[in-house]
Amino acid sequence: MLELEAALTRILDTIPSPLTESVPLAEARGRYLTEQILAPIDLPIFDNSAMDGYAVRASDVATATSASPVRLRIVGRVAAGDSSESRVASGTCVRLFTGSPLPQGADAVVMQEDTRIDTGNEGAILVLDSAKPFENIRFRGEDVKQGARLLAAGDILTASRICLVAALGLRETSAGRRPVVALLATGSELREPGQPLRPGQIYESNRAGLAALVRGAGAIPRIFALVPDSLSSTREALEEAFSHCDVVVTSGGVSVGEMDFVKQAFEEIGGQQQFWRVAIKPGRPFVFGRLGKKLLFGLPGNPVSALVTFLLLARPALIQWQGGVEVSLPRHPGVLGEPLSNPGERRHFVRVRVDSDGQVFAAGVQASHILSLLAAANGLVDVPPGSALRAGTKVGVLRWD
Ligand code: AMP
Ligand code: MG
Repeated sequence: MLELEAALTRILDTIPSPLTESVPLAEARGRYLTEQILAPIDLPIFDNSAMDGYAVRASDVATATSASPVRLRIVGRVAAGDSSESRVASGTCVRLFTGSPLPQGADAVVMQEDTRIDTGNEGAILVLDSAKPFENIRFRGEDVKQGARLLAAGDILTASRICLVAALGLRETSAGRRPVVALLATGSELREPGQPLRPGQIYESNRAGLAALVRGAGAIPRIFALVPDSLSSTREALEEAFSHCDVVVTSGGVSVGEMDFVKQAFEEIGGQQQFWRVAIKPGRPFVFGRLGKKLLFGLPGNPVSALVTFLLLARPALIQWQGGVEVSLPRHPGVLGEPLSNPGERRHFVRVRVDSDGQVFAAGVQASHILSLLAAANGLVDVPPGSALRAGTKVGVLRWD
């Protein structure tokens, strides 16, 4: 049986390099860059005002107070979007707005609130407070220097990164193509939600949950029909799924029972099983296979096991497929609010709830069919075999929602 890290390395080593496509920025959230982004321009692109106010020479207003204001003649007005032709000479100022280009000769901006119109002297203002050189000026290049390397290939595009790239004048970016992921559920007991149940039947729940996780990993889920437990149905379903999708995720039918057909059906359609079984709980019966460049993730059927193995083993693969480099679940520090123990022989990924203070609580009975617990959880803690962690122990919490 493989350890988790060995299994993950085996999986990631088979992922093809990402295919690149152009993505409009407004649709790029969650996509992974396939090339670095160098700044084509400075940001700000010109010196400009951070305030509504007046461009001045700081030395002119060094002594200004409300008791002894300094009078300046207004020699121009530059709105945001105007180009500035005015010049600020000693004793003069230029009316500016936030984002207006700084006129020649000025070295500070006095904010409007520190001025008053000079009644009886149209065309002049009284400055009521001093300004230091460079006050309220946003300098060319102080944010980003032309040529700077801002983002690297493999970085994920977040809202703030998209905003930065847009400010550079780029309309699109090159991002890794997103894999289409087939979701298959095997089991003759399974029924579509909304259908009446006969005795012995249950509602199928893995495909919808996995579709949410597939989307969360940036990939495109595609739900296929339920697969009854027979070799021929499983074979046909896999063939159909592989012909339409880049990655196939199945649930159920990968254990040791004589009703578990996924492994055999996969090999019969030409797939190569890479490994089966990983030393984790929940989720030992997990199979990874390749069919040409396409990938099979055979997850266990128990819903908790299916979701956890997806997060630990399939999600990283889908992210790397798109060119992403940070493939693991984000890990946040937490402190156990109650003891956690694992008397077993496999690492236990305990479903936990982390509160806003970072206190971590195991959310009840840790069995792989207990969905209410999974729904209450917002993280996983990796508890080593044969260990007992006391309350107060610092832990890393893997987060997914
Ligand atoms: P299996 O891995 O096929 O042996 O299934 C293990 C357990 O998970 C059984 O109790 C199944 O009924 C249940 N199960 C399997 N697949 C699903 C599914 N897609 N939705 C809900 N329960 C499932
Ligand atoms: Mg089954």
